[in-house]
Amino acid sequence: MLFKEIIGQQAVKERLQRSVMEKRISHAQLFLGPQGSGSLALAVAYAQYISCANKQHEDSCGQCSSCIKYNKLIHPDLHFVYPIALSKDVKISSDKLKEWRETFLENAYITLFNWFEKLDAENKQAVISKDESEEILRKLSLTTYEAEYKIMIIWQPEKMNPAAANKLLKILEEPPEKTLFLLVCEADDQLLRTIVSRTQLIKINKISDNDLISALINLHELSPDLAEKTAVLADGSYAEALSLISENENAAQNLVSFQKLMRASLKFDPKAVMIWIDEVSAAGRERQKNFLNYALHIMRESLILNYGDASLVKLGQDEQEFVKKFSPFIHKNNIDAFVSELNKAHFHMERNANVKILFMDLAFKFNELLNLPKPVMA
Ligand SMILES: [Zn+2]
Repeated sequence: MLFKEIIGQQAVKERLQRSVMEKRISHAQLFLGPQGSGSLALAVAYAQYISCANKQHEDSCGQCSSCIKYNKLIHPDLHFVYPIALSKDVKISSDKLKEWRETFLENAYITLFNWFEKLDAENKQAVISKDESEEILRKLSLTTYEAEYKIMIIWQPEKMNPAAANKLLKILEEPPEKTLFLLVCEADDQLLRTIVSRTQLIKINKISDNDLISALINLHELSPDLAEKTAVLADGSYAEALSLISENENAAQNLVSFQKLMRASLKFDPKAVMIWIDEVSAAGRERQKNFLNYALHIMRESLILNYGDASLVKLGQDEQEFVKKFSPFIHKNNIDAFVSELNKAHFHMERNANVKILFMDLAFKFNELLNLPKPVMA
């Protein structure tokens, strides 16, 4: 990770670079910053900079043998500790090292939610276990292989169980030689006070709107207008901006898919229905469930537009144009049945129903419901 790959945060970067140049590297540092600010990326870039054999004034060289190993997170003197979901086979961070490297290298602005998604453990508790502190000691007792320092990056130390936290405190009180601890934390009020007081604080702020906007334009090719809107909603978190971008992309795909289904089922065009089913079946189950939720959302907004105030309708521009034409088909006589069919489909999908049959059934039902007569207005 190079400093220049990190969005904004110029003041912190300069402070970290100075500490290396002036050889004032504190043995325990607390990188404290909100989610999506880039605090983990900064800690990794800092570690790489310390270890780089040919560092420049503002960044690592990116090419020396140390940097090449850092680029893959496989430097033997770089160690990570992070929360995991404990199980029979998973006791310490190293048990999930392969997944950790993949996740970080894909997105250095990883959140706990992304990480647990990767581990397929969304509903499990995230912990750093007491076994981990033994492992930290074991790793630190190894001789340094190649670099001047052994560097231990602890991501989300607030997830340490109390025994692990107390052992870490002991280690920080009597630090082994030539070892650096970089604690990357989002909520320091959940850390032992005594640990906080043993570390030097590196405070990381939210990313500034201007820095985030230019990143969204340059890295994601958003229009200046959309970049600005996204940055305001993301509130200084690049992780949040990424999730908004992917929601937008999903919404655009969902709208197209919804339009196809409605057109195909209104007059029941068997060929168009089959093509639609093949397209939807090719997506993963999560995407399919997401589509059903989206369909519910469009149905509800259509009903509101029919009976309520247009200003209450929450839709993007393309959606608004579609819903203006579509909403007359959604009324008191069929909305309950639409909602119930979509909920039923969602229920069966969670129980691994055959997707093709399920969507065929849905198209038949929609054909019936779309053609129900509208209630006569008083
Ligand atoms: Zn280098």
